[in-house]
Amino acid sequence: MKNLIASRNYRYFVMAISGADHSAGSLHFQGRAFDVDEVNGVRISGDSATARGFMDACRALGAIEVFGPSNDPAGHYDHLHCGW
Ligand SMILES: [Zn+2]
Repeated sequence: MKNLIASRNYRYFVMAISGADHSAGSLHFQGRAFDVDEVNGVRISGDSATARGFMDACRALGAIEVFGPSNDPAGHYDHLHCGW
């Protein structure tokens, strides 16, 4: 999470780390995933270059689970999920 700020210059709003409403076995409950609903002042709402850019940055930093409007519009229309 720090690398997204330090090396990628992202500002983002974290809406969940552990807890919240996630399925059993979710990486969230191991503290290994977080959800973001705003990136660089842009609210996530459907697919966008901002959303895809943040998702790519997570992958580049080794995330093994990356969801957002572009690959899971039903579950992640309004937020991005990155898990390690
Ligand atoms: Zn999530």
